[in-house]
Parts: sequence; C-alpha cells; structure tokens
Amino acid sequence: MCYFDCKRWRCGFWKWDSFRQQCHKEYRMGETCGQKLIYHTELLDQQCRLCDQMEKKNRRLRKMWADMERWRAEGNRRATVEKTERDYRDVAAQISQLQYEHGRRLTQIDY
Ligand SMILES: [Zn+2]
Repeated sequence: MCYFDCKRWRCGFWKWDSFRQQCHKEYRMGETCGQKLIYHTELLDQQCRLCDQMEKKNRRLRKMWADMERWRAEGNRRATVEKTERDYRDVAAQISQLQYEHGRRLTQIDY
C-alpha cells in the first residue's frame, strides 16, 4: 500500500492528490502498488467543483421559474414558456446527476 495526499472539501467531497511514499511491497522506481493509503489530508475551507456547478444551475432554475411566472401572467409568450419548461427539466436533470455523483463520492470507502 502506497501513500498519497488527499484533499477534502468542506462539503465532504474528496479526491486523491500527490503520491508521497512507496510502501515496502513496491520496489520499482516511480511505481505504486495500486493500493492507496492517506499520507496527509488537506482540508479545504470551500465547497467542491460539483457544489459550485449545482449552485450555478440552481440559480438558473430560480431565474427560469420567475421568468415563466411572469410570462404566464402576461399571457402572450406561450412558445417561450414551453421552451423554457423543457430547459428547466434538462437543468433539473443535470442537478440530480451532480447530486448523485456527489453523494456517491461521500459514501465511497475505497481509501
Ligand atoms: Zn461538494
């Protein structure tokens, strides 16, 4: 088992970072045995890239929702509302996918 640094974001998301030290099972220079152990975990006081993306997409959803409400009240933008409804569903699906990836990483225990 070889030692690696690890990064952990405030939201719990983590990823492997630089290789630090070989273990006694591995003698080839610059190679690693394939099993990873944590050498040091760097804690980052910010949320991860996935959380950033989810936040951005959520803001977009809120804006689309507000636009649709306004257009429906005005009553003369039917085609635009229908298009926005489709976009809304797409973005909402993207957010679920990101949430899934994020949640999966939080429960992974392969380190
Ligand atoms: Zn995150």
